[in-house]
Amino acid sequence: MSRVFIVEDEVLVARDIKSRLEKLGYQVIGTAARGDDAVTRVLSERPDLILMDINLKGDMDGIEAADRIRAEADLPIIFCTAYSNDETLARAKVTVPYGYVLKPFDNRELEITIEIALHKHQMEVALKAAGIRLEATLQNLDDGVLTIDETGVILLANPMAVQLLGLSKDMLMSLNAEAVLRFEPLNATDTTIDIAALLQGQMALPVSFDRQVLLRQDQDPLPVAVGLNWFSPGGSPLLVISLRDLTTQIAQEVQLVKTAFYDDLTSLPNRQLFLDRLTTRLISTRANDGLDPTPFAVVIISVEGLDVINQALGFSAGDHAIVDVARRIQKIARPDDTLSHLGGGRFALLLSDGGDPGLTLEAVEKAQISIHANIEWTLDATVTVDSYCGLVFGPGEYVAANDMVRDGETAVGRAKSEGLAAVVFDVAMYEKAKAMLLMRSKLKDAIDQRVLLPYFQPIVDLKTLKIISFEALVRWPLSDDVFIPPDDFIPLAEKSGLVLLLGDLMLETVCQQLKVFNSKAIDGFSIAVNISSEQFTEALVDRLDYLISKYDLLPQQIGLEITESVAMKAIDSNLKLLEIFRERGHKISVDDFGTGYSSLAYLKRFPLDTIKIDRAFIQELAVDTDDFIIAKAIIDLGHSLGLKIVAEGVETQAQMKLLQELGCDLGQGFYFQKASTGEMISSCYERGLPLGRAQTL
Ligand code: C2E
Ligand code: CA
Ligand code: CA
Repeated sequence: MSRVFIVEDEVLVARDIKSRLEKLGYQVIGTAARGDDAVTRVLSERPDLILMDINLKGDMDGIEAADRIRAEADLPIIFCTAYSNDETLARAKVTVPYGYVLKPFDNRELEITIEIALHKHQMEVALKAAGIRLEATLQNLDDGVLTIDETGVILLANPMAVQLLGLSKDMLMSLNAEAVLRFEPLNATDTTIDIAALLQGQMALPVSFDRQVLLRQDQDPLPVAVGLNWFSPGGSPLLVISLRDLTTQIAQEVQLVKTAFYDDLTSLPNRQLFLDRLTTRLISTRANDGLDPTPFAVVIISVEGLDVINQALGFSAGDHAIVDVARRIQKIARPDDTLSHLGGGRFALLLSDGGDPGLTLEAVEKAQISIHANIEWTLDATVTVDSYCGLVFGPGEYVAANDMVRDGETAVGRAKSEGLAAVVFDVAMYEKAKAMLLMRSKLKDAIDQRVLLPYFQPIVDLKTLKIISFEALVRWPLSDDVFIPPDDFIPLAEKSGLVLLLGDLMLETVCQQLKVFNSKAIDGFSIAVNISSEQFTEALVDRLDYLISKYDLLPQQIGLEITESVAMKAIDSNLKLLEIFRERGHKISVDDFGTGYSSLAYLKRFPLDTIKIDRAFIQELAVDTDDFIIAKAIIDLGHSLGLKIVAEGVETQAQMKLLQELGCDLGQGFYFQKASTGEMISSCYERGLPLGRAQTL
């Protein structure tokens, strides 16, 4: 039930209205006759509606009383009056009455006016609450929101909009939208949002948020996402514009791109980005339709010696060296070139103008000179690095960037293995590299499946021709009598890290064979195994110990053949190793003597048993040739050091005779016997037959 307050100075009229209202179902909570009295009571009693007579006794009339009430409280007021002149009406309007009834009025008229007033007031209250909520939302929105009309007048701007635009609110509201909302697309290829064109209907609304740069007055341009929407609340269209600051988001995106495409250490493009750029270059060259393609070059630079720096001074020194080298190469690169750090001190340089191979090589040389210069580490410590370069010229037949980089890597590999500063890739080289890779995987399979096996070549006493030992030689059978020669795969095994597996397989199969010989009481000789430089470590000591006990052998049954270069490498540590092997009873031979350092001086320092004169000297052996003199010198010197001498590659009786005359102790070669299988040897021993010209008994 709505509560009504009546303001009426005529007591009888007031009573009449009161009874009528009560009949209509309203509760009359009070009446007042004077204006000031009415204000006080209404403000304390808060009725739902006030029925206000305009003409009141006293100083204050109904219009003024209504004014005072409305100033303090939002209550609906209906004026009622018997007469009205224009001036009174004009005054009454200003107070915004909720209704107006002229006396005398009938009940129906009164009820309708009251109901309309109550309803209108209710609506207003609800609208006000919604307005407050909307205002609060706009105030706290992270997006800037502006509403403008068709002519560009700014009707609304929330605090974030004011902040983003960098103007005071007053200033902003006084300007036209076209003047404050000036954009440029964030990506040059996108369209510009043009507010004037939008308002004139010359531009369609973008479908989604558009990334733009907001060009602000006296402020830095701001990257924003712009949302645009037309709406027409009362028939006249309004444009609602939202602005979202993208500064943080774009910074994050930039960071993401950076980690995805740039190397952390050097901040240079990484492999991925390098390949992207190279691909772009290949495509653009191809787009030229092969007509006069602009040549370019890819240089792979491998910085060497970082591991030494890391070990000696720590990883930060190694990193420092990489960064320093990157800076140096960058200095030599031209603005159009792309330098990338592929990782681990390996760089790729895309030389945009590789037209002149001579100039390109010169640039590479310049880069290497600067790479090799001293790198300052601390005030009193400098380090240096070495480098190898592989060059590939494009476009050639290249389609894929990956292929160019791969070939550059192949060229670096060759530069490294041949000790050249720079190597230019060519197709033949690629074919060779491909064949090597294929061979490597086949070799790996052959090792894993134990296809490789040892053959044994006798080494005989040149006086008695009696076998005193065998050399185990690896064989890779393809079919029954086709073998891949060791010289075709041993170097590959050594280069590609397979030699440890291969060496271990040989050691084990040789030991197995020895156990078989032992079980048949075939003895009186040792077997020498070829040991690659990589194999020659402490681990070999343990491995041999293990195999010897596993197969129940004596250490003196196994000899080791090492090359001069292995012995020379890191003399001190190898010296210790040699002593360990000798203590255990293994015989040590120096293989291929005469082809390497041939330094007899170091022989004195090493605990050795045998020197094997390389077969190159034996092949052309004839009296008074250089080879004869060398062989003689080696034999005499070896003897003076208490070593036994083996001549390798003895193929003829004449060679054997000369060697006997020179006092050479032992011989090995096709003249006596080629390498044979374990079974073949067993059967000769068992039947008491010679192995070729080599005597088994
Ligand atoms: P090497 O250690 O100098 O082995 C001697 C090579 O000379 C063997 O070649 C042998 O068959 C060959 N030879 C023996 N007598 C004569 C002869 O009268 N005339 C000629 N022209 N050659 C003769 P092979 O078996 O082809 O081995 C080649 C090289 O492969 C070996 O040279 C050795 O360096 C390496 N090698 C062989 N087996 C192994 C192994 O198990 N491990 C390692 N690391 N290297 C091995
Ligand atoms: Ca050998
Ligand atoms: Ca040899």
